[in-house]
Amino acid sequence: MEFGEERRLVALACRVLAHAGLAEDVLGHVSLRIGADRMLVRCRGPQESGLLFTTPEDVRPVPLDGPYDRLPDGYAVPAELPIHTETLRRRPEATVVVHAHPPALVAADLARLPLRPIFGAYNIPAMRLALEGIPVYERGVLIRTTDLAGDMLAAMGDRPVCALRGHGVTVTGATVAQAVVRTLNVEALARMTLQASRPGGAPRSLPDEDVAELPDLGAELNEESIWRYRLARLEASGLGLPGSGASTPGPSGTGRSGYGRLEETR
Ligand SMILES: [Zn+2]
Repeated sequence: MEFGEERRLVALACRVLAHAGLAEDVLGHVSLRIGADRMLVRCRGPQESGLLFTTPEDVRPVPLDGPYDRLPDGYAVPAELPIHTETLRRRPEATVVVHAHPPALVAADLARLPLRPIFGAYNIPAMRLALEGIPVYERGVLIRTTDLAGDMLAAMGDRPVCALRGHGVTVTGATVAQAVVRTLNVEALARMTLQASRPGGAPRSLPDEDVAELPDLGAELNEESIWRYRLARLEASGLGLPGSGASTPGPSGTGRSGYGRLEETR
C-alpha cells in the first residue's frame, strides 16, 4: 500500500480522537500533507462504521485541488474536504489538519464561556494555547465550500486552533501527534472551563441563515453508518449478538482488518 505507514498514522489519529470522545459516531476527519500538492485524508467507504474503527484503507490520497466528490474506488471524501485542502494550501507550515466535533469545546462556546488560561500546571500546553488566543469562527455551517473554508481561515489567523461555533474545531500541527494532542488539550481546557463555571449560561439558537445553509447529508450517513458504528462498538466491547453481523453490515461481517482478534475472543 502506497504511504502505508502514513495512512496507518492518520487512521490511528482518528481512533485516538474517537476513543477520547472527540469524534463521536462518523463525523470528523484528519489529513496529512504528502508532497506539494497532495494529502492523505480520512474518507468514507461503503461500510463506514465511525472514526473509532478507521483503518489505513479508509485513508486515501487526494489532490489539494480536488476532486471533491466520490473517488474512483467507491470511497467518498468528507463533505468538509475544503477545511483540509484550503488549510494545507494557505498554511504552508501545517502538515496535519484535524477536524473534530469535541462536545465540551462546543458547549463552552455556546454558553459564551471564553477559553481563557484558567489553569496552570494541570495542563500547561492547553494553558498556553488559551494564553495566545483561541479564535472562534462564528458560523455554525457545514464548511463544504472553499469560500466557507476561507472565511474560517480568516477567523483562525495564524493560530493552530480555531473553535467553530455550534460545530467543532479545526487544528493544525507539524506532526500527527502534535495536531491530535493539541485537539485533546483544547477539549480538556473547555471541559475544565465548563466545570469551573457556575450554571447560568444561555445558549442561543443558530441564526436562520446558518440553518438554511445546512444540507441534509442523507440517511446513509445520518442513520445507517451511525447504526453500523454503534454495532461495531458493541462488538468491540464484547456485547455483540451472534448473527448480527450477517444481517447488518458492519465490521464483524466485512472482515475488515483489526477485527479478527475480537471475533476470536468471543
Ligand atoms: Zn464538521
